[in-house]
Amino acid sequence: MTIALLTKHKYNYPDTRFDNMEIHQIGGLYYDSNIYLLKSEKSLIIDTGTGAHHDNVLKNLRGIMTPEDVDTIILTHRHFDHTGGAESLQSALEAEILVHESAAESLRQGDDVTTAARAFGKSFPKLKVKALKEGDEINCGEMKLEVLHTPGHSICSIALYDRVTKTLFPGDTVYTDGGIGRWDLPTGNYEELVKSIRRLSKMEVTTLYPGHGPFSQNDGNRHIALGLKYAELWG
Ligand SMILES: [Zn+2]
Repeated sequence: MTIALLTKHKYNYPDTRFDNMEIHQIGGLYYDSNIYLLKSEKSLIIDTGTGAHHDNVLKNLRGIMTPEDVDTIILTHRHFDHTGGAESLQSALEAEILVHESAAESLRQGDDVTTAARAFGKSFPKLKVKALKEGDEINCGEMKLEVLHTPGHSICSIALYDRVTKTLFPGDTVYTDGGIGRWDLPTGNYEELVKSIRRLSKMEVTTLYPGHGPFSQNDGNRHIALGLKYAELWG
Protein backbone atom coordinates (compact mmCIF):
# COMPACT_ATOMS: atom_id res chain seq x y z
CA MET A 1 0.00 0.00 0.00
CA THR A 2 1.18 3.50 -0.53
CA ILE A 3 1.21 6.52 1.63
CA ALA A 4 -0.30 9.55 0.01
CA LEU A 5 1.02 12.80 1.24
CA LEU A 6 -1.58 15.31 0.42
CA THR A 7 -2.22 18.87 1.07
CA LYS A 8 -4.11 21.58 -0.61
CA HIS A 9 -0.69 23.10 -1.23
CA LYS A 10 2.00 21.98 -3.57
CA TYR A 11 3.37 18.93 -1.78
CA ASN A 12 2.50 15.52 -2.98
CA TYR A 13 5.23 13.01 -2.32
CA PRO A 14 4.41 9.34 -2.54
CA ASP A 15 6.06 7.11 0.01
CA THR A 16 5.93 3.38 0.56
CA ARG A 17 7.59 2.80 3.87
CA PHE A 18 4.46 1.88 5.77
CA ASP A 19 1.84 -0.75 5.11
CA ASN A 20 -0.98 0.78 7.08
CA MET A 21 0.04 4.29 7.75
CA GLU A 22 -0.56 7.53 5.92
CA ILE A 23 0.71 10.97 6.76
CA HIS A 24 -1.17 13.94 5.41
CA GLN A 25 -0.71 17.64 5.88
CA ILE A 26 -4.23 18.95 6.34
CA GLY A 27 -3.51 22.57 7.18
CA GLY A 28 -0.97 25.33 7.31
CA LEU A 29 -2.59 28.42 5.82
CA TYR A 30 -1.35 31.94 6.62
CA TYR A 31 -0.43 32.08 10.32
CA ASP A 32 -1.45 28.49 10.95
CA SER A 33 1.16 25.98 11.94
CA ASN A 34 1.36 22.91 9.76
CA ILE A 35 -1.30 20.42 10.79
CA TYR A 36 -0.39 16.78 10.30
CA LEU A 37 -2.74 13.83 10.24
CA LEU A 38 -1.23 10.44 10.98
CA LYS A 39 -3.80 7.98 9.72
CA SER A 40 -3.52 4.42 10.95
CA GLU A 41 -5.54 2.09 13.12
CA LYS A 42 -4.88 4.70 15.83
CA SER A 43 -5.06 8.03 14.06
CA LEU A 44 -3.86 11.28 15.52
CA ILE A 45 -3.32 14.91 14.63
CA ILE A 46 -0.21 16.93 15.40
CA ASP A 47 -0.88 20.65 16.01
CA THR A 48 -4.07 22.49 15.10
CA GLY A 49 -3.23 25.87 13.58
CA THR A 50 -4.87 29.06 14.85
CA GLY A 51 -8.41 27.81 14.31
CA ALA A 52 -9.04 30.54 11.72
CA HIS A 53 -9.35 27.84 9.06
CA HIS A 54 -11.15 25.24 11.12
CA ASP A 55 -13.74 24.47 8.42
CA ASN A 56 -11.04 24.02 5.86
CA VAL A 57 -9.08 21.67 8.12
CA LEU A 58 -12.18 19.59 8.81
CA LYS A 59 -12.98 19.45 5.13
CA ASN A 60 -9.47 18.22 4.34
CA LEU A 61 -9.76 15.67 7.11
CA ARG A 62 -13.15 14.50 5.88
CA GLY A 63 -11.68 13.98 2.42
CA ILE A 64 -9.29 11.44 3.93
CA MET A 65 -11.16 9.69 6.73
CA THR A 66 -14.03 9.87 9.19
CA PRO A 67 -12.98 12.72 11.46
CA GLU A 68 -14.46 11.09 14.57
CA ASP A 69 -12.00 8.22 14.16
CA VAL A 70 -9.18 10.53 15.20
CA ASP A 71 -8.90 10.20 18.93
CA THR A 72 -5.77 12.12 19.84
CA ILE A 73 -4.44 15.64 19.20
CA ILE A 74 -0.84 16.32 20.16
CA LEU A 75 0.34 19.91 20.59
CA THR A 76 4.07 20.39 20.05
CA HIS A 77 4.01 23.50 22.27
CA ARG A 78 1.61 26.12 23.58
CA HIS A 79 1.83 28.89 20.95
CA PHE A 80 -1.47 30.05 19.53
CA ASP A 81 -0.57 29.36 15.90
CA HIS A 82 -0.34 25.67 16.92
CA THR A 83 -3.04 25.54 19.59
CA GLY A 84 -5.69 28.13 18.70
CA GLY A 85 -7.64 25.51 16.75
CA ALA A 86 -7.44 22.90 19.51
CA GLU A 87 -10.74 23.67 21.22
CA SER A 88 -12.91 23.50 18.11
CA LEU A 89 -11.06 20.47 16.77
CA GLN A 90 -11.37 18.73 20.11
CA SER A 91 -15.12 19.20 20.17
CA ALA A 92 -15.53 18.20 16.52
CA LEU A 93 -13.53 14.99 17.00
CA GLU A 94 -14.15 14.29 20.67
CA ALA A 95 -10.42 13.80 20.89
CA GLU A 96 -8.02 13.90 23.78
CA ILE A 97 -5.40 16.68 23.71
CA LEU A 98 -1.83 15.90 24.80
CA VAL A 99 0.76 18.56 25.60
CA HIS A 100 4.01 18.68 27.55
CA GLU A 101 3.51 18.79 31.30
CA SER A 102 5.10 22.25 31.57
CA ALA A 103 2.29 23.75 29.44
CA ALA A 104 -0.64 21.72 30.76
CA GLU A 105 -1.65 24.09 33.55
CA SER A 106 -1.33 27.22 31.37
CA LEU A 107 -3.64 25.70 28.79
CA ARG A 108 -6.12 24.52 31.40
CA GLN A 109 -6.22 28.07 32.76
CA GLY A 110 -6.52 29.70 29.33
CA ASP A 111 -3.30 31.70 29.55
CA ASP A 112 -3.35 34.48 26.90
CA VAL A 113 0.21 35.63 27.49
CA THR A 114 2.51 32.63 27.20
CA THR A 115 0.38 31.15 24.42
CA ALA A 116 0.78 34.48 22.55
CA ALA A 117 -2.98 34.42 21.94
CA ARG A 118 -3.01 38.10 22.86
CA ALA A 119 -0.60 38.87 20.04
CA PHE A 120 -3.24 37.40 17.71
CA GLY A 121 -5.93 39.59 19.30
CA LYS A 122 -7.53 36.48 20.82
CA SER A 123 -8.06 35.09 24.25
CA PHE A 124 -7.13 31.51 24.95
CA PRO A 125 -9.95 29.17 26.02
CA LYS A 126 -9.62 26.86 29.00
CA LEU A 127 -8.59 23.62 27.34
CA LYS A 128 -8.96 20.09 28.61
CA VAL A 129 -5.51 18.57 28.21
CA LYS A 130 -3.47 15.61 29.38
CA ALA A 131 0.20 16.03 30.26
CA LEU A 132 3.06 14.36 28.44
CA LYS A 133 6.61 14.01 29.66
CA GLU A 134 10.03 13.18 28.26
CA GLY A 135 10.22 9.53 27.25
CA ASP A 136 6.49 8.93 26.92
CA GLU A 137 5.55 6.83 23.92
CA ILE A 138 2.42 7.42 21.88
CA ASN A 139 1.10 4.50 19.96
CA CYS A 140 0.05 5.40 16.45
CA GLY A 141 -0.36 2.12 14.60
CA GLU A 142 2.91 1.28 12.91
CA MET A 143 4.59 4.33 14.38
CA LYS A 144 5.54 4.67 18.01
CA LEU A 145 6.09 8.34 18.69
CA GLU A 146 8.58 9.01 21.44
CA VAL A 147 8.27 12.33 23.27
CA LEU A 148 11.50 14.33 23.44
CA HIS A 149 11.41 17.44 25.58
CA THR A 150 13.18 20.12 23.51
CA PRO A 151 12.83 23.48 25.29
CA GLY A 152 14.18 26.74 23.84
CA HIS A 153 11.56 27.96 21.38
CA SER A 154 9.24 27.62 24.35
CA ILE A 155 9.73 25.82 27.64
CA CYS A 156 7.14 23.19 26.69
CA SER A 157 8.38 22.37 23.19
CA ILE A 158 8.45 18.70 22.34
CA ALA A 159 9.62 16.73 19.34
CA LEU A 160 7.99 13.44 18.37
CA TYR A 161 10.25 10.73 17.01
CA ASP A 162 9.68 7.33 15.48
CA ARG A 163 12.88 5.28 15.71
CA VAL A 164 11.95 2.67 13.13
CA THR A 165 11.13 4.99 10.26
CA LYS A 166 13.46 7.76 11.54
CA THR A 167 10.66 10.27 11.29
CA LEU A 168 10.79 13.44 13.36
CA PHE A 169 8.15 16.06 14.10
CA PRO A 170 10.25 18.82 15.73
CA GLY A 171 7.50 21.44 16.14
CA ASP A 172 9.08 24.90 15.97
CA THR A 173 12.54 23.91 17.18
CA VAL A 174 13.99 23.45 13.73
CA TYR A 175 12.65 23.69 10.17
CA THR A 176 13.98 22.67 6.78
CA ASP A 177 16.80 24.53 5.01
CA GLY A 178 18.46 25.90 8.13
CA GLY A 179 15.40 27.50 9.69
CA ILE A 180 15.18 27.56 13.48
CA GLY A 181 12.56 28.57 16.00
CA ARG A 182 12.59 32.03 17.57
CA TRP A 183 13.52 32.27 21.23
CA ASP A 184 12.32 35.78 22.08
CA LEU A 185 8.73 34.92 23.05
CA PRO A 186 7.72 34.28 26.69
CA THR A 187 9.44 31.11 28.05
CA GLY A 188 11.88 31.09 25.10
CA ASN A 189 15.61 30.66 25.74
CA TYR A 190 18.45 30.77 23.22
CA GLU A 191 20.88 28.43 25.04
CA GLU A 192 18.16 25.84 25.52
CA LEU A 193 17.19 26.11 21.87
CA VAL A 194 20.74 25.42 20.70
CA LYS A 195 20.97 22.49 23.11
CA SER A 196 17.71 21.07 21.80
CA ILE A 197 18.69 21.42 18.14
CA ARG A 198 22.03 19.78 18.99
CA ARG A 199 20.18 16.90 20.62
CA LEU A 200 18.00 16.44 17.54
CA SER A 201 21.05 16.65 15.27
CA LYS A 202 22.45 13.53 16.98
CA MET A 203 19.41 11.43 16.15
CA GLU A 204 19.02 9.60 12.90
CA VAL A 205 16.38 11.52 10.97
CA THR A 206 15.25 10.75 7.46
CA THR A 207 11.86 12.40 7.34
CA LEU A 208 11.40 15.80 8.93
CA TYR A 209 7.94 17.30 9.39
CA PRO A 210 8.41 20.72 11.00
CA GLY A 211 5.80 23.04 12.48
CA HIS A 212 5.92 25.49 9.57
CA GLY A 213 7.06 25.51 5.95
CA PRO A 214 8.05 22.62 3.73
CA PHE A 215 8.94 19.16 5.00
CA SER A 216 11.66 16.81 3.85
CA GLN A 217 11.26 13.11 3.22
CA ASN A 218 14.80 12.07 2.59
CA ASP A 219 17.49 14.16 4.25
CA GLY A 220 16.21 15.29 7.63
CA ASN A 221 19.66 15.23 9.21
CA ARG A 222 21.05 17.63 6.63
CA HIS A 223 18.30 20.12 7.41
CA ILE A 224 18.84 19.83 11.16
CA ALA A 225 22.61 20.24 10.74
CA LEU A 226 22.03 23.42 8.75
CA GLY A 227 19.71 24.67 11.49
CA LEU A 228 22.30 23.93 14.17
CA LYS A 229 24.98 25.78 12.23
CA TYR A 230 22.70 28.79 11.89
CA ALA A 231 21.63 28.69 15.55
CA GLU A 232 25.24 28.64 16.73
CA LEU A 233 25.99 31.82 14.78
CA TRP A 234 23.88 33.76 17.26
CA GLY A 235 25.85 32.62 20.32
ZN1 LIG B 1 5.84 28.49 18.21
